[in-house]
Amino acid sequence: MNTFKISEQSWLKAKRVVAGGAASSLRASMKPVPLYVSSASGSKLLDADGNEYIDYLLAYGPLILGHAHPEWTALVQNSLLRGVTYGLQHEGEIELASLLTDILPCADKVAFSGSGTEAVMIALRLARAYTRKSKVIRFEGHYHGWSDTIFTSFPSPDMRGEAEKVTMAGTAGQSENALQDILLVKWNDAEELERVLTEHADEIACVITEPVMCNSGCLAPNPGYLERMRELTTRFGIVLIFDEVITGFRLGLSGAQGRFGVTPDLGIFGKAIAGGVALSAVAGKADIMRLIDEGTVNHLGTLNGSTLSMTAGLATLALLSEGEGRAYSRMEEGMNRLASGLRKSLQRHGIPGIVNRIGSVMHMMFIDKPEVSDFDTFQQRDSARYTVFASKMLEAGILIRPSGLWYISTVHTDEDIDRTIGTADQVLAAL
Ligand code: PMP
Repeated sequence: MNTFKISEQSWLKAKRVVAGGAASSLRASMKPVPLYVSSASGSKLLDADGNEYIDYLLAYGPLILGHAHPEWTALVQNSLLRGVTYGLQHEGEIELASLLTDILPCADKVAFSGSGTEAVMIALRLARAYTRKSKVIRFEGHYHGWSDTIFTSFPSPDMRGEAEKVTMAGTAGQSENALQDILLVKWNDAEELERVLTEHADEIACVITEPVMCNSGCLAPNPGYLERMRELTTRFGIVLIFDEVITGFRLGLSGAQGRFGVTPDLGIFGKAIAGGVALSAVAGKADIMRLIDEGTVNHLGTLNGSTLSMTAGLATLALLSEGEGRAYSRMEEGMNRLASGLRKSLQRHGIPGIVNRIGSVMHMMFIDKPEVSDFDTFQQRDSARYTVFASKMLEAGILIRPSGLWYISTVHTDEDIDRTIGTADQVLAAL
């Protein structure tokens, strides 16, 4: 069983000088202790105590090619020798934007920034400027970053006020007025969406959705739901935004929009787009993106379009595109193998649980239901028990998120996966 002496000491030291102890609030919750890492390669990560893990955290999603992929690293290293960022233009921006407009159905033009949170901010601004309306429909349990105007209902669940008129702040310090334009609606319920849209159509600028509810249970859209959302938003002149920060380049090169055949007006991309370097993008229809061309909408950021991020994006997409979809079929097969193994193990030990998988992302939860396809049911899972499971897995050399979301990369092998299933089986037996 792994022990964590050095991580424990570092954590104590960190708490004296790093606010919250870790660079993001979510990371501080890892049990038995937030891990300190010494190095990582491929599907494996080595912590400061010398424990090795098979990594399914993958830096919360970006590491779609695993850690320190040799070809990716060589391309990024070479580019760094020519300078990391210029604050000026370079061919890499044109190359990456051209590639994105080729592969993403919604993309006539692209705007780059550094994080998913920033890209969401640009998309909302574009939608408001385009429609000259200000309200935003967002859904319970979805996450769209931590900016004041959208941060609510995640990770805390129930923040929908009476008749969706009040939306509660996600954190202390958020402006009381910041969420006044948000209508928080139940996801995967076409009737409710139609009702709210019909009632408020004159005020609503956009609907923003994760096309698969990855942040709360990896819930797939009900058949026809995204199509209906598309049809209703078109009918009412409302901008449809897919937040593909997780699904982008994970559910396939063309993301959820390609997979489901529903094209939004704007798509937001981050995480996997650059394999671990800070990069995000809003890709959208020419008619809306022209607002940036005209200077009507300001799009700013010191490090936007850095050579580092553009090269990392180009390298990641080149490697994902190799072999006509081989990277995706590998990940799909790998995650399917893992999900099936975990389901069998849950069954064998008589533990009620669900593993929801789509592509290379899945959510495992302890819950006594035949299926979980809506947020209210998802909320009934036993998250305390899952946290114990995740910490026991960590002690046994498998790194997973305490929340239940797992990612795999193109370099996870069948051997990694079989070892993971074997370890999970032992942990579940003793749970
Ligand atoms: N949108 C979604 C769907 C996300 O999952 C996340 C991050 N988990 C974000 C936006 C915010 O991205 P970032 O952390 O890069 O700001």
